[in-house]
Amino acid sequence: MPNPHDRRTFIAAATAAALTGPAIAAAQQPGRERRRAEARRTGAADGPVVIASGNGVAAVGRAHDLLTAGADPLDAIVAGVKIVEDDPEDMTVGLGGLPNEEGVVELDSCVMHGPSARAGAVASLRNIKNPAAVAREVARRTDHVLLVGEGALRFARRLGFKEENLLTDKAREAWLRWRSRLNRDDDWLQEDEFDLPAVGRGAMAPGHGPGPRRHARPLLALRDHLETIDGVPYTTGTIHCSARTAGGDLAGCTTTSGLSWKIPGRVGDSPIIGAGNFTDNAVGSAGATGRGEAVIQVCGAHTIVMRMDAGDHPTDACLYALKTIADRTKPARLLTDDGRPNFQVVFYAVRKDGAYGSASMWSGRTFAVAGAGSGARHEACAFLYER
Ligand code: ASP
Repeated sequence: MPNPHDRRTFIAAATAAALTGPAIAAAQQPGRERRRAEARRTGAADGPVVIASGNGVAAVGRAHDLLTAGADPLDAIVAGVKIVEDDPEDMTVGLGGLPNEEGVVELDSCVMHGPSARAGAVASLRNIKNPAAVAREVARRTDHVLLVGEGALRFARRLGFKEENLLTDKAREAWLRWRSRLNRDDDWLQEDEFDLPAVGRGAMAPGHGPGPRRHARPLLALRDHLETIDGVPYTTGTIHCSARTAGGDLAGCTTTSGLSWKIPGRVGDSPIIGAGNFTDNAVGSAGATGRGEAVIQVCGAHTIVMRMDAGDHPTDACLYALKTIADRTKPARLLTDDGRPNFQVVFYAVRKDGAYGSASMWSGRTFAVAGAGSGARHEACAFLYER
């Protein structure tokens, strides 16, 4: 009897259920070159194409305008995501982002520029609302890739980025509400939930934790940006944006305030090249939003770009990475009663030929896209599991 969680069974099922006829034909052809040729025929688009997470409609519109005027793809998307970083009402990114458990906003971002194959990133950056622009400067002005914490702040200061308090009144009030209810919903595991055994003890069975269900993370992000539980908002927002120019050059960027109420210094997938964002100018660009701890552990964006290189349509590649996460999620606290991940992850991908796609772990999500025939809009994400 076929196992529904077996990867080969899944790919066959997902292909039949979610993909176009040409993609099915391509997937059935032996040989990587043949598959690539088939895949190239599906969904290719002329002109610039920009994709982003659902909160990025304004961002893709702006980036697309800039690309049409001939801008560099990385400059275009950094200008696009700045709209969201500057928006105090978006509690998942930049100014107004929800803080860590001590009430301090810490931002993460990385960028990747396809033509030069250069990456830059900052993590746990405080007081600067545009981490994507700082990450771009790391790639442009230094021999490094990732600057963190105090070093990242000093670097930004030297370049003249303005320092300001990023904690808005609205975010502070939310933090105070969360503080007043501290319990199993923070990021410190209870002893009965530890994922690893104590040093010198035998291995624990996966998913051993019998403790009461922690509810904060599991329900996160089943809506677009944030979930409110008992009046307390929990974010898994973030904006990812990838672009392809009319000439086929690529760039990607992810920027976030990370998980709300995180342990200070916690870094998610967003500033990690290969996890929250990865671009290969010969293949495509991909990125992620949602539970960063899951994305990091499967090198999500890199996996997607490698799958596209092997011939997958962008949507297939996103579904593949989601299934990899599902297969590797073991702790009971992260699983539904029927063994599925109880959190959201959304992947986004654009291929060098302009084909694009997005898929979420759980149904009901949309992503933003501009180009490929029309202006900035939302489209439905493919999904692994239906709610
Ligand atoms: N991926 C981000 C992180 O883990 C959060 C999010 O996208 O909501 O920091």
